[in-house]
Amino acid sequence: MLIDNYHRHISYLRISLTDRCNLRCIYCMPLEGISLLSHSEILTLEEIERIASAAARLGISRIRITGGEPLVRKGVIGLAGDLLKLPGIEDVSLTTNGILLTEHAAALRRAGMRRINISLDTLDAEKYKRITRGGDIQRVLDGISAARREGFSPIKINVVAMRGINDDEIQEFARLTIERPVHIRFIEFMPIDVATDWDENSFISSSETREIISRIGTLRPVGRCGKSGPAAMYQLEGAAGLLGFISPLSNHFCDTCNRMRLTADGKLRTCLFSDHEIDLKTILRSGVSDQTLEQTIAEAIKSKPKGHSISEPSFKKCRRNMSAIGG
Ligand code: SAM
Repeated sequence: MLIDNYHRHISYLRISLTDRCNLRCIYCMPLEGISLLSHSEILTLEEIERIASAAARLGISRIRITGGEPLVRKGVIGLAGDLLKLPGIEDVSLTTNGILLTEHAAALRRAGMRRINISLDTLDAEKYKRITRGGDIQRVLDGISAARREGFSPIKINVVAMRGINDDEIQEFARLTIERPVHIRFIEFMPIDVATDWDENSFISSSETREIISRIGTLRPVGRCGKSGPAAMYQLEGAAGLLGFISPLSNHFCDTCNRMRLTADGKLRTCLFSDHEIDLKTILRSGVSDQTLEQTIAEAIKSKPKGHSISEPSFKKCRRNMSAIGG
């Protein structure tokens, strides 16, 4: 078991397959001026599998594949299948913007994946184009239908709540759960990197989002359900689906944080908001043994901070943007 210095059991690894993305969401990636990793800088699929396998031997049981946009990386389906076969790994899931999901949903299911998170911050086609700087919402909606047809369950839709951008759609998103068994999860807008436009005015807390939703129906907490992670789960009375609220700022979950992140260029991050990274790629490429790799990961866990310091005056945004860290 991987236990950190604050007695947290680390069991969850998020792997960023690439820093590339087929969208340029205003809150995630700057339009220009990003230096993308070259082919030789990113981990090969074999290297990713080797790290995941070492992590699994240490006690990691759940993996999420993310990015950038994971479905733009060649070989993602094979990798998902291989990760699912690793001894000790109970679950491998994916976070995607859904643009390429219609093409890949069936193959992902055949590879053994059962759960999927799709990011969608608006239901309006024009606004989607603006938020994503050019994306076609129809491809995402088709991707969600394909995921449903293939039997992914639950399908979780991630919505970053932003004042002045999509706060007028919070109730509409919540209404989607009335007829459909989806999970709509509202994520608080986080100040990740210097290039994106986070400010206090654009931030909406989860409690405000819940208050807006409670105007359309009775909203009840449903406690933890399945793999809801840090989301506080609620349900509108009589609804088929669920509502999740992820509050990294207003009610942070650092005390129970069980995750670490592997960036596409092979750096292990023990906290989303800390630039402290452990370079696994260099040690892998120096021909390290499995045992030393495991020791390095186990040692890295000891550097996981007690909590993030967003609300402290000394807080500095990250050097990398979210797409490079693997959100
Ligand atoms: N491309 C994939 C996608 O769109 O889901 C995976 C990577 S994306 C970085 C992962 C998640 O991070 C998305 O749900 C996105 O909305 C979220 N995200 C990115 N920047 C964020 C920010 N500043 N605050 C909150 N969530 C953010």
